[in-house]
Amino acid sequence: MDILPDGFFGIIGLFIGSFLNVCIYRIPRKESLVWPGSHCPGCGRPLKVIDLVPVLSYLFLRGKCRTCGARISPRYPIVELITGAAFFWSAQSAGGDVAVFAGNILLLSGLIVITFIDLDHWIIPDKVVFPLAAAGFIISWIRGMPAEAAMGAALGFFGFYAIAIIGTVLMKKEAMGGGDIKLAGMLGCFMGWKLLLTALFLSFLIGSIVSLPMLLRRKRGARDPIPFGPMMAAGAALALIKGGEILSWYGDFIAGAILPK
Ligand SMILES: [Zn+2]
Repeated sequence: MDILPDGFFGIIGLFIGSFLNVCIYRIPRKESLVWPGSHCPGCGRPLKVIDLVPVLSYLFLRGKCRTCGARISPRYPIVELITGAAFFWSAQSAGGDVAVFAGNILLLSGLIVITFIDLDHWIIPDKVVFPLAAAGFIISWIRGMPAEAAMGAALGFFGFYAIAIIGTVLMKKEAMGGGDIKLAGMLGCFMGWKLLLTALFLSFLIGSIVSLPMLLRRKRGARDPIPFGPMMAAGAALALIKGGEILSWYGDFIAGAILPK
């Protein structure tokens, strides 16, 4: 792995991002991921190989279908760029450890798919979460941390299950979907229980920052649920990338508040 430059993995990531776009569109619609090939949702024209080049084809076509002129969402190149960045970071941070690299690209790719499916459809498909949980556990095992992963899975799943029950009782409506509970368990499989705690803490922090202005702006429907999956994905990605620094900053912060100067 060390022989290849990190930028190479970034470019691979752009192409994987193109495939993640297909997953985001097709998995909730229960369509096959391989057949038929990519086509314009407006006119059905099959895309040429040149149209499949990530990001560049979008710029080249100026965001419009070559045939019918239908607008192509800027989300496609955005997903490709995020995936490219995720692969680049994973290659840079893995230090040549293939298991760490594989775990990070799998988890981050899965989180990208989950985020956009949840934003569009308010679901987190089992089809995505279960295979990822299994892969995450196997990779953690290879990395010599099966116990941490098992505890992470249990903490995520049962912890969120408890929050869901308490929340439902307090708010008298479903507080947390089953998809969020399974997602928390899946995160534990990859991250182990310590990093999972950081991820969940950040998720709730991001969740309150994002949802507070929304709740203040509209009085009616103030208890409308906002999908929590994307917040968990953002919290997990942040914990993965900056977890060590956040933990030490938080430790210093607490110590600074409690201990006399
Ligand atoms: Zn078209």
